[in-house]
Amino acid sequence: MILDAHMHLGEDLIFGTNDSPADLLAYMNEHGIDAALLQTGILPADPRAATQRLYALTRQYPGKFFGAAVLSPYTPQAQYEAFMRWAVCDLGFKALKLQGFAFCAAPSSPQARKIFDTADQLGVPVIIHTGNGVPTALPSLAIPIARDFPRLKIILAHAGGGMYGAEALVAAQTCENIFLETSWCTVLDLKSFVQTLGCTRLMFGTDVPLNAGVELAKYRALRLSDRQYEQCFYGTAAAVLNL
Ligand SMILES: [Zn+2]
Repeated sequence: MILDAHMHLGEDLIFGTNDSPADLLAYMNEHGIDAALLQTGILPADPRAATQRLYALTRQYPGKFFGAAVLSPYTPQAQYEAFMRWAVCDLGFKALKLQGFAFCAAPSSPQARKIFDTADQLGVPVIIHTGNGVPTALPSLAIPIARDFPRLKIILAHAGGGMYGAEALVAAQTCENIFLETSWCTVLDLKSFVQTLGCTRLMFGTDVPLNAGVELAKYRALRLSDRQYEQCFYGTAAAVLNL
């Protein structure tokens, strides 16, 4: 069983991606990926419509696609909370996302606080982009948040993105409620994560369909045990996302 814990559906006005349901089904079929946690684009033209489209796909393919909700951290607090309550309670979405780099809003910024408050209330994890886009994307900026919200599970997307892999490791070593999603990290970072943290804190992700083969090759190069693969490819994400 392989679950991709980081993929996007539909248009993204910031990053220029726009993968359709057919694109997603094709890369999963090609690489033997069974399920995916999908975010909308970070900035779609209409976030509610993009979220509804993602929801429709989760209903069409139960157990194959799961949703994670994205909304600008500049959305007023009451409006942000109402949107996320709808996404989690009505649509069954599994996580909220902070892309601080895209919005120039670090996890430690006042405008990002509503994301952690809301996720903590709703009992779902927050995915934080890390790696490119420092200083907002520095992994260590999640540490004070993880300490302020000890029940909240935090997933560091891209585990520092290569340049900041060591810092992502320190963040996860410092806080037990921090987990690492490993798309775009180096294979040597991945090896150090497995050796230092263990697989219960790691989850496989790809971010874009073109990257899936690369991400799988990184894991396969490490020649892990079947049990370790099962944990990184599915077990950690299933536990953290409450699938
Ligand atoms: Zn992404």
